[in-house]
Amino acid sequence: MLPFCYQNDQLHLEHVAIKKMAATVETPFYCYSQSAIESAYNEYSNNLKTLNSMICYAVKANSNQAIIKTLAGIGAGADVVSEGELRRALQAGVPPSKIVFSGVAKSEREMSYALSVGIFQFNVESENELERLNQTALNLNKVARIAFRINPDVDANTHAKISTGKSENKFGIPISKAVSIYNKAAKMRGIEVKGVDVHIGSQLTTLAPFRETFKRIKLLVNELLEQGIAIEVIDIGGGLGVNYENQDNFEISIKRYCEMVNQEFCNLNAKIILEPGRSLVANSGLLVSQVVYKKQGEHSTFLIIDAAMNDLLRPSMYDAHHDLLSVTKKSTKEHYDIVGPICETGDTFAKNRQMESMEEGELLAIANVGAYGAVMSSNYNTRLSIPEVLVHQSQFEVIKPRRDYEALLSLDNLASWQQTTSELELVK
Ligand SMILES: *Cc1c(COP(=O)(O)O)cnc(C)c1O
Repeated sequence: MLPFCYQNDQLHLEHVAIKKMAATVETPFYCYSQSAIESAYNEYSNNLKTLNSMICYAVKANSNQAIIKTLAGIGAGADVVSEGELRRALQAGVPPSKIVFSGVAKSEREMSYALSVGIFQFNVESENELERLNQTALNLNKVARIAFRINPDVDANTHAKISTGKSENKFGIPISKAVSIYNKAAKMRGIEVKGVDVHIGSQLTTLAPFRETFKRIKLLVNELLEQGIAIEVIDIGGGLGVNYENQDNFEISIKRYCEMVNQEFCNLNAKIILEPGRSLVANSGLLVSQVVYKKQGEHSTFLIIDAAMNDLLRPSMYDAHHDLLSVTKKSTKEHYDIVGPICETGDTFAKNRQMESMEEGELLAIANVGAYGAVMSSNYNTRLSIPEVLVHQSQFEVIKPRRDYEALLSLDNLASWQQTTSELELVK
């Protein structure tokens, strides 16, 4: 169920009118429904009750600490891909014992930090990484608990930019090389082999690639057992797709996925880790924007809005579809090209989209932007970072403020040879 609906012709997120938020926060801004995030998490946990499992929220989907806190507060762990995300997760209250560290290029510095806080598991993606982690752990007199990320060579049938489980992708260890690397790791003093890990991509819309992957992983686990390597943890990654386009025949749901996970893993004596990102937070979020100009082109009518590709990259990066809603309900519809102010044709949210009629100054909401929205935003075109708001029933509060131009401009320094003598005097 989506967390937004119209009440008295006004779009609300939970019990807060978008118009009311826009009066104090100023557009463009993101807002998220706390209960939508909680209910998505509970759907996972309720459907996995009989399994020994741990749900580690993939923080990269939306790393605002208030969002991590929402999930940590109801039991979630975290899947992080950088030291920065690890620090965020810890600061938001995720215990180290529930944190897994993924990513293809962990640096020695990141490894040291993660070892010093004592995370649950490193997901190791190559032999070189294994060696560096072993050495780093030995230097610190620690032991790194690891799983190997296996590349199962399964096609996730998703957008090429977010497909990760094919043999040609940069991710993981080829399944054919797995046994030998496990044997090697088992002999290392800085390494404790715990598990197998897999993540084949994001925005998967069918169950079949997951099922095929799980079958291959189970075969590997058996093969490892025959070699005397007991696998205690199976990390099955994230990747569940979200029904952005309201398709009737959309196959994936959290419930169906969990049913399959239960079927596939109930008779294994292992802890199952899940790393959902998108499916926990995508539907919780709206990006609220205002129509700046309604411009009649030769072939179409443009709605130029105050949000742009730097605020929400998904349409230009992945050709992603997001529903567009008028904040005040309208009875008439028109076709528009909805675009942002940036000087790139790619700065387009939708082409020839039929939606409610809009006029200049009116508010428009972009739906289902809670995942991979704010986290991918930038200051391109020297636009201020977009604020974020958390909604809880009839309350709302800014969880990331909009900084001012002074703060943004003060991030740059002139090189010393560019400064005039008086400026240099000032610095002294
Ligand atoms: C991105 C990522 C996830 C989360 O993917 P979603 O599609 O958002 O569920 C989980 N695990 C790893 C290793 C990832 O890179």
